[in-house]
Amino acid sequence: MNQETLALHSGYHQEGLGTMAVPLYQTTAYDFKTAERAANLFALKELGPIYTRLNNPTTEVLETRIAAVEKGAAAIATSSGQAAIFNAVANLAEAGDNIIVAEKVYGGATTLLTHTLKRFGITAKVFDSDSADDLEALIDEKTKAVFFESLSNPNISIANVEKIAAIANRYDVITICDNTVATPILFNPLTKGVDVVVHSASKYITGQGLAIGGLIVEREGLNDKLIGNVRYAQFNEPDESYHGLVYADLPFPIFTLRVRLSLIRDIGAAQAPFNSWLFIQGLETLAIRMQKHSENTLKVAQFLAAHPKVLKVNYPGLEGDLYHKRAKEQFKEGMASGLLSFDVGDFETAEHILNTTELFAVVVNIGDSKSIITHPASTTHMQVPPADLAKAGVTEGLVRLSVGLEDADDLIEDLAKALG
Ligand SMILES: *Cc1c(COP(=O)(O)O)cnc(C)c1O
Repeated sequence: MNQETLALHSGYHQEGLGTMAVPLYQTTAYDFKTAERAANLFALKELGPIYTRLNNPTTEVLETRIAAVEKGAAAIATSSGQAAIFNAVANLAEAGDNIIVAEKVYGGATTLLTHTLKRFGITAKVFDSDSADDLEALIDEKTKAVFFESLSNPNISIANVEKIAAIANRYDVITICDNTVATPILFNPLTKGVDVVVHSASKYITGQGLAIGGLIVEREGLNDKLIGNVRYAQFNEPDESYHGLVYADLPFPIFTLRVRLSLIRDIGAAQAPFNSWLFIQGLETLAIRMQKHSENTLKVAQFLAAHPKVLKVNYPGLEGDLYHKRAKEQFKEGMASGLLSFDVGDFETAEHILNTTELFAVVVNIGDSKSIITHPASTTHMQVPPADLAKAGVTEGLVRLSVGLEDADDLIEDLAKALG
């Protein structure tokens, strides 16, 4: 079945009362009815809802759907995209281990993975996900994960996904790809050799800026890479915290199962049923929205590229962009999502545009159906030292847009007025 169909139907078939909409199970706990059933659920002899921190029927529909749409085996929802990244990494690495992180990733991923995790004894090495030429040399016996973004926010670059996966596979190291900006509609990393996908559902999946959430999806057959792998003893040896359970012995996809039974159980960054319900509504229209986001953004990019006051436009959908070839090769129908940035030369001009546009809200978010404008140098990248700013391609005159679903001509007219 195609993604458009799976996004509408997988995980729920009008069971029970036949409600067309997925029911919202706004509940903390579940009546097991008998002591025997309770014991079976805890012993994993039977799978079913135990307590909403561990699982919930509404959240389970979301998990089944995102796994299907990402072409993966299983998924788990988390309370935010940041929690998805943390749990995916914490499922693999512990104090004394290291992870390898792409230089061009979301600011929150950089601070979490290179600064906060260091305080837990997990160190990060940085690699270039554009070329992946430096990746192999960074892998050692304590390396537990390679983390990167398919289409990076805010750099708007596209990773060399297949090369990264191939190198990591040679050393049996798990790859984690943040697919938030590309979305599963444009690109499915799990079909290109990547092991685990994470999402911030707060962006395109909700689509209307309604809620914070995260998702972790594992590929089909990932058990084979984990079972017997000396890097990952935690999947192969008895888990003392679960009366000696050995994940490798279970007939389920064990990566996300261990996130659920060990990490979410203890750390507790579970998704709320109502937010899961909102993300289910978002997934239903994700495919058509991504088409429109991509179309609109290309039109805006073409207008900006032809404008005399614009020095440079970064958008992989644009012919001549550094990542255009990769977008055409890797992404569905060459669609390139809704993020673009452009350089107007200096801070005053950038500030004038931010203050003058009427349809673009000054907001630090992306993926909303309403268009958004940001000035990275004075907001998201304010803490970055000037030398590193240049490396990240963030100049004083750089403006970033998250192009929404408004009429493209209206957006262009608004930008034309602001540019003067
Ligand atoms: C927003 C974002 C995150 C963090 O997600 P939250 O839901 O805000 O915690 C992670 N990765 C990328 C690429 C993002 O854009």
